[in-house]
Amino acid sequence: MRKDKVGMDSAKGNGLDRRKAATPVGPMQNWLCLKAGGSAIVQEMKVALTRMFQIEAAHALPRLPQGHKCARMHGHSFRIEVRVEGECDAKLGWLMDYADIKETFAPFFDQLDHRCLNDVPGLDNPTSENLAKWIWDRLKPALPLLSAVVVAETCTARAEYRGD
Ligand SMILES: [Zn+2]
Repeated sequence: MRKDKVGMDSAKGNGLDRRKAATPVGPMQNWLCLKAGGSAIVQEMKVALTRMFQIEAAHALPRLPQGHKCARMHGHSFRIEVRVEGECDAKLGWLMDYADIKETFAPFFDQLDHRCLNDVPGLDNPTSENLAKWIWDRLKPALPLLSAVVVAETCTARAEYRGD
């Protein structure tokens, strides 16, 4: 009995510690922790993460000459890269959770996947360049670390938008 009781107390204590450890800590807090610990070492590491998505979608580029093949309705397996950049959290050893990028992009993925892009509001001229900006404009407010959106419509051609 006594052993069980001790075990329960111990498990409870560990649970509290784990919750504390899981609390997100920002770069500045890490720096302050290191300073408070008396260490002169300030660990800084800037990193970039890329989360890739693929959508199947059709488009036609209406502003091109009628004889241009891209003016005809056709489809691509668009590969979309969402890149975030920032200071790596020294304690967690990562910039952010890839799953958070996926979750933030999810509603826009649904608006684009298996669609005719010309029918999507704001994409009446759905070039890869415009698609990259369309994604950027919607993603950036919810994903402040966003640094680039890359849209590749083939294996050999891609457009990149960095908010400039
Ligand atoms: Zn195309």
